[in-house]
Amino acid sequence: MKILSVNAGSSSLKFTLMEMPEEKEIASGLFEKIGLSDSSYTIKYNGEKIKKDCPMEDHTVAVEKLMSELVDLNIIASLDEIEGVGHRLVHGGQEFSESVVLNDEVLDRVAKYNILAPLHNPANIMGVKAFMKVMPNVVQVGVFDTAFHTTMSETEYLYPVPYEWYELYKVRKYGFHGTSHRFIDMTIRKYLNNDNLKVISCHIGNGGSITAIDSGKVVDTSMGFTPLAGIMMGTRSGDIDSSILEYMASVTGKNIVELTNDLNKKSGLLGVSGVSSDSRDVEAAAESGNERAILAQEMYARKIANYIAMYNNLLGGADVICLTAGVGENSKTMRKMILEKIASLGVELDESKNDFRGEFRCITTNNSKIPVYVVPTNEELMIAIDTMNFVNQK
Ligand code: AMP
Repeated sequence: MKILSVNAGSSSLKFTLMEMPEEKEIASGLFEKIGLSDSSYTIKYNGEKIKKDCPMEDHTVAVEKLMSELVDLNIIASLDEIEGVGHRLVHGGQEFSESVVLNDEVLDRVAKYNILAPLHNPANIMGVKAFMKVMPNVVQVGVFDTAFHTTMSETEYLYPVPYEWYELYKVRKYGFHGTSHRFIDMTIRKYLNNDNLKVISCHIGNGGSITAIDSGKVVDTSMGFTPLAGIMMGTRSGDIDSSILEYMASVTGKNIVELTNDLNKKSGLLGVSGVSSDSRDVEAAAESGNERAILAQEMYARKIANYIAMYNNLLGGADVICLTAGVGENSKTMRKMILEKIASLGVELDESKNDFRGEFRCITTNNSKIPVYVVPTNEELMIAIDTMNFVNQK
């Protein structure tokens, strides 16, 4: 059966069309600048790529355009071939612990969490509504970034702040990248043929989070109330002392919104190195001797290593550590730096296995106390699997 995986942003719509259960990608693409004067789309299929400029006033027009292109390009014979559409939804609060079939009533419940993810959830919902309009008889499934983390216990998800902040305002750790961490956990458990693994999953891309998982259930994760918490990232600071905000407001005159924006967009690798948020640029600058780039790389690796060590303790000893996303899958330099910083856990890198990009591979020696695997993530596939499961239940 054919399933569409969709990720809708406020002015964009990313899609992957998959043949399931074969897990084969048929086509993918991106609709950009929807609602703006210079909107366009790109569709990749059969090794070809088309790019067209096209006025698209809203997401419904983009979805209609997508459907007509899929037929016109002979990627599908008719729209009836698409049996399900899976949508990435960023925030389901503590209410949605797994993926769900979407209808108007469920969407109203999801919209309650818009206040917790104002940049993402309303846009995600807009995308769902566009598909519901264009394909009213097709199963629409919501797959939440937060859902996998709902197994955390309150010792992990509560902040040590006045309890009313949680009771009245829902302030707690939610965690993100859940679909990616779930995919990594599922893949490694299947590969090692063991459902009771203790896994430390490290999603290290432009955003980054580390998750401790025991037998398929999240014990703790590094992102928090928002994706700003945890490890240092491309442009985000990760954990810092929150009093810095009050101090910086008093010395610069900036307000909380401006300062939070600095923490989200001007910090992390970019902030420390002054070079770029892209780890390739920072690596290149470090190699050519740029001292702030060297410092940024060192801090980045250290924050990740510290979380791994903490989660190893929390899990009572991890069985396996997985590295994924842009940096984890591609950067042998950063993988080496991280593994060297967790040598005290008995982790031993095999340098001869580390010189590659973007593949599933074990990178540690046979003597390593904890094996480390690089596992390419595939959130689109995870969304397609969940959607297929609901279609099969119909
Ligand atoms: P993601 O958010 O998962 O797309 O990851 C984006 C990050 O991965 C960026 O910082 C990229 O610089 C990084 N990345 C991608 N390819 C490489 C590579 N070959 N070496 C180092 N970093 C890479």
